[in-house]
Amino acid sequence: MAGGLRKRSAGAAGEMLIGPVHWNDRGKCIKQTARQVLIFPRGGRLRHISNDAKVTIMAALTDSLTTLAELKSRVLAFARERDWEQFHTPKNLSMALAAEAAELMEHFLWATPEASRSIAQDKVKRAKIAEEIADVVIYAVEFANVTGLDIAAAVEAKMAANAKKYPVEKARGRADKYTDL
Ligand SMILES: [Mg+2]
Repeated sequence: MAGGLRKRSAGAAGEMLIGPVHWNDRGKCIKQTARQVLIFPRGGRLRHISNDAKVTIMAALTDSLTTLAELKSRVLAFARERDWEQFHTPKNLSMALAAEAAELMEHFLWATPEASRSIAQDKVKRAKIAEEIADVVIYAVEFANVTGLDIAAAVEAKMAANAKKYPVEKARGRADKYTDL
């Protein structure tokens, strides 16, 4: 990296605040027109998309490279930049999450179980479905942000509880609720 100021924030690893600079990334010089918060995973590659004279730089987040802490930081930064934290109450976020889950369901409404598998693989529909799953995750992550919940710890605790409710010897190959096993 060369040709500009660079500050590392106190946030998650991979988060940077950069000013209006020319930023050289792997030999490419990128002209930035506005202050942005960039978050990118360790080892991740930055993409840039030209839009008229402006250049938007997006982080190439992937599941294998992105930590939950990085996702939480990314979502929080987005809300803070827009002064939206005032609206992000547990009530609103839980309701928004449910609304987005309904939008996800809408793609499969009236489809047979077999057709739902095809829909999820359809190139065009898959892009829309990815948007809805992203919305669901974003609201879940922001809910954890505003309530101070640790997602990984909560998932671990729930999986342990689920393992007790659904022991392999009873639940394997069955879709019944634990009360009916
Ligand atoms: Mg949506």
